Amino acid sequence: MVEKNQDFPRAWVEFVDPEDDTNLYRCDLTWLTSRWTCIWGNGCKGIDKENPDVGCCNLGAHIADKEDLKNTKKYAAMLTPEIWQNHKEGHKNGMFEKDDDGAKKTRAYNGACIFHNRNGFEGGDGCSLCWELPIRRTFEEVKRPDDVDIIVIGIEEYNRRGWGPGGEDLDWYCTTATEAHVGARAVYQSYEPELTALMGKKAYKILADHCAAREEMIAAAKASDNTRAIKYLAIHPATPKS
Ligand code: SF4
Repeated sequence: MVEKNQDFPRAWVEFVDPEDDTNLYRCDLTWLTSRWTCIWGNGCKGIDKENPDVGCCNLGAHIADKEDLKNTKKYAAMLTPEIWQNHKEGHKNGMFEKDDDGAKKTRAYNGACIFHNRNGFEGGDGCSLCWELPIRRTFEEVKRPDDVDIIVIGIEEYNRRGWGPGGEDLDWYCTTATEAHVGARAVYQSYEPELTALMGKKAYKILADHCAAREEMIAAAKASDNTRAIKYLAIHPATPKS
């Protein structure tokens, strides 16, 4: 059980958003074809060793933009007291707050994100909302050489750096931990709903095709014991060897 260094070779794919040609997707294939899976309740040590039962949910989650806020509010409004433990508290005293830098996030309440149901809650423990972590979506304004302004949208691993300067101080974190790379399916498959919500159906289909082709190449390289190909395919280092 080892947490690997977060700097390692990665394979990326770039493609134009089929629904908006001023967007360019830049996606981390190394991460998206890895076998990471959330092991909360099944070996997750939590980012705070004093509060391991809430996994990485003790700080609350940052809101990316107005659309993200709108969607979060929309889905929160659908939650009932049967499936959200803090339903009353959230509606009475708020679901959001600002961090020390003024960025909007979900509110931390009693040592965890207000949407986190604690162990033993009848409606199910864990996040009561579907959440995108550890997929990180970034936006970068770029002027192309032809003077056209585009947005480069990164779909990446939400590694320790995604948490900001405090990421290095987390007691443990899963994205490069070998014990969390035990998924039955690759991230692009297990996170299809989240990726589709982030990118749209058409862009997700393009991404999934690239990922599937890469998985075929990796399988072929392993089957033929092609060590050179295996090395340069930039497989996630937390992946089990076999
Ligand atoms: S995402 Fe990682 S740190 Fe967060 S609960 Fe799951 S395994 Fe634990």
